[in-house]
Amino acid sequence: MSSILTDRYENVKSRIINACRSCGRNPDEITLVAVSKTKPDSDILELLNHGHLHFGENRAKALEDRMESIDNPEAVWHFIGNLQTNKIKYMVHRVNWIESIHKKKALKEVEKRASEINRVVNVLVQVNISDEDQKSGCDPEQLESILAYGHDLKHTRILGLMGMATFTDHPEKVRPEFRLLRELKEKHQHMNGGGVDLKHLSMGMTNDLEVAIEEGSTMVRVGTAIFGERNY
Ligand SMILES: *Cc1c(COP(=O)(O)O)cnc(C)c1O
Repeated sequence: MSSILTDRYENVKSRIINACRSCGRNPDEITLVAVSKTKPDSDILELLNHGHLHFGENRAKALEDRMESIDNPEAVWHFIGNLQTNKIKYMVHRVNWIESIHKKKALKEVEKRASEINRVVNVLVQVNISDEDQKSGCDPEQLESILAYGHDLKHTRILGLMGMATFTDHPEKVRPEFRLLRELKEKHQHMNGGGVDLKHLSMGMTNDLEVAIEEGSTMVRVGTAIFGERNY
């Protein structure tokens, strides 16, 4: 059965396929994370029914509530927002990916909490690739020491990098930012080993997912194009 939501979702899937085709990539390499922030549970349930599994939230409390109310063992949950270390304990029992780690202190807390319950949590290190928001992500220069710290972790796997481009209606303008993230991944590939395996690049949203895929994204985080405009 078709609805506005599943039509929009299928449209995003087509955009991903077309973007892959235009640069010779395999669409299976791309994970679509449906960013459900502020939208009702019924939308998530509809997409789950439609076969979609990956969902993202950008606020700790929203994610916690969502994981509890949806309570579907198949769902894969991504935390993508500004991460306060003291909120990690509320998500670690269920979250699958924390994409917005930007300091060792947060890695240490994930490791502590995840080891207590013998879980493994996948994380990405968020890097500040735009110059408009100094708060989102570590500086590229800090990456090496954060990754080195990740080597000894047993319950925290660092599987790549995440970045948010400058907000713009002209996606070509942010190509250099995506390229920077890919270059940082390549540059730090020698850090692989132990708990570090840099294979993912989480970049690309509603406005710029094609450019992000052309620049090597393996995870696109899409809200508006799937769920419609948000009221904030
Ligand atoms: C809201 C959000 C998205 C999705 O943005 P859209 O432009 O609605 O697709 C992606 N990443 C993060 C971190 C977000 O907060």
